[in-house]
Amino acid sequence: MNVILLGPPGAGKGTQGELLARRLGMPRVATGDLLRDAVRRGTALGAKAKSFMDKGLLVPDAVIVGLVDAVLERPDTRGGIIMDGFPRTVPQAEAVDRALARRGAHVHYVVRIEVPQAELVRRLVRRAEQEGRSDDTPETIEERLRVYREETAPLVDYYRSRDLVVDIDGTGSIDEIAARIDEALDR
Ligand code: AMP
Repeated sequence: MNVILLGPPGAGKGTQGELLARRLGMPRVATGDLLRDAVRRGTALGAKAKSFMDKGLLVPDAVIVGLVDAVLERPDTRGGIIMDGFPRTVPQAEAVDRALARRGAHVHYVVRIEVPQAELVRRLVRRAEQEGRSDDTPETIEERLRVYREETAPLVDYYRSRDLVVDIDGTGSIDEIAARIDEALDR
């Protein structure tokens, strides 16, 4: 099963993605984690991505499409994958479709996690204090939410037209949200 987690920064994609990956016995892959790791290790990918990440902007599709192809060619993602933080643009979504089609697969579900804006900001400010992520500053938080609305939210329609979207209320406890996702994927 190939599942995409879609939602703004702070919606809980990472937390829920990890839980879902464990329940389904499939890897969760987060492009944000891969990019942060590349920056830390000082690779060519990291060098291309860093300035965009620090500003809260999307790393260009040309860079991400190569990364997505590499992820979807990994043997451990053959039996299914939880995609966290990608695709984030329509060209990326098309790249995911193409990469899956190459191995005779397709997207099964797009789990869209919805959280009111004020709650997102609260969560991101808290994460900034706890994790010290360089892109969790007050200015960048606002920028990332804007980028989500403008560049990533259109993906909801892209997938809605194919009837792949399940809408999940992302408020409440971690267990409550996990139960909602389980129920939606069980249909
Ligand atoms: P995340 O951990 O998913 O919030 O990602 C952190 C940052 O990495 C984002 O603000 C972007 O700069 C970059 N990033 C992660 N995934 C993508 C993607 N699929 N497309 C473009 N940029 C990305």
